[in-house]
Amino acid sequence: VSASADQVQLSARSTNAAAQSQAIQAQQAGRAATAAAAANSGPLVGPALYEGLKTGFVDGYMNPKEILERCQQLADKYPNLVEIVESEQQTSGYDGKNAEVRGPGKQYYLRVGPKTEDRDKKLGVFQFAAPHAREWVNPLIMLELTEQLAANYDPSSTNPAVQANTQLLDKLDVFIAPMTNPDGTNYSMFDEKMWRKNRAPYGESVGVDVNRNYPTGWVAGDPSEITFGGSGPLSEKETQHIVGVLDRHPNIRFICDWHSYAEEIRKPWGVSDQDMPLYNAMHTRMTDAIASVRDTKYGNVFSEVIEGTSDDYFYHERKTYSMLVETAKAFQPKESEALKVTEECTRGARELLRFAAEHQEQQGLAAANPPASIPRIPG
Ligand SMILES: [Zn+2]
Repeated sequence: VSASADQVQLSARSTNAAAQSQAIQAQQAGRAATAAAAANSGPLVGPALYEGLKTGFVDGYMNPKEILERCQQLADKYPNLVEIVESEQQTSGYDGKNAEVRGPGKQYYLRVGPKTEDRDKKLGVFQFAAPHAREWVNPLIMLELTEQLAANYDPSSTNPAVQANTQLLDKLDVFIAPMTNPDGTNYSMFDEKMWRKNRAPYGESVGVDVNRNYPTGWVAGDPSEITFGGSGPLSEKETQHIVGVLDRHPNIRFICDWHSYAEEIRKPWGVSDQDMPLYNAMHTRMTDAIASVRDTKYGNVFSEVIEGTSDDYFYHERKTYSMLVETAKAFQPKESEALKVTEECTRGARELLRFAAEHQEQQGLAAANPPASIPRIPG
């Protein structure tokens, strides 16, 4: 090998090295630019998300009458942002010993956001609480979320957290139903604390498990059971009301049904391979947001109950990204603890909205992709 050939090789090597070093520099510059862009305009992360937000509006347990009054106050205080939408159908009625609240209960939900003409074209997110009467914390989460969204809506604010909150309501069509089983909840609050079902009369027995009354995998069971599924799929006013929200608003793509208790976020049964990455990302974001208050670690699990529950119906038959959260360590934690759970889970509920808004930016109103048929139920 001649000296000159060696030199050529050497110079080729050094050209390679120079090119490599240039590429690395470009990569680093690119990364720095991306990081800078994220800091300037990307989604907020960590504590900055909540800095300066007005929070802590809810200060204790509320019964269904108080919850409705609170919703009316919010609608009065924020007439451009909070609307109460009432269902024509009332419930069969509370029949317990508190005469003041006896009789049919009102069914309603809140639509939150600027009342623009294009709101039906935005991606809809529906969150609702308390289909099971004894699970008292979750209406508080729904009310706190509603009030935070409205109180922190300010297009002129320079606070990044307020700007982000404002953008959520500008981008999304937000639906929140804080009280979806008023009769049963009254019965749990005034008569029998551990009451779970609604108060519809069925022969000798009373009540249907509202979260066993959806069509997917529906079974009747016995009226005396705590999980009685009703006389048929959607036989109950409470489930008709929830499904009615989706019928009226076909732009809804994300649904969260808030329950207690287990400190878990549950995917529906039989999530497709195609949807699994989205579910995992979404639930990690929500559990991280919940943990940001005091490090409470919510599990990220699959639903094991497939007998007429909301999440399976909404995923498999309505092609929405549906889920069920089990909050807290008890059905009715002491009030100070209930308020902590409210603080945590309001962040989880807000994170779902953030995730949904990003989904819309990337995929518009693309629906969920459940498998062609529901995978066989084990056992
Ligand atoms: Zn429940």
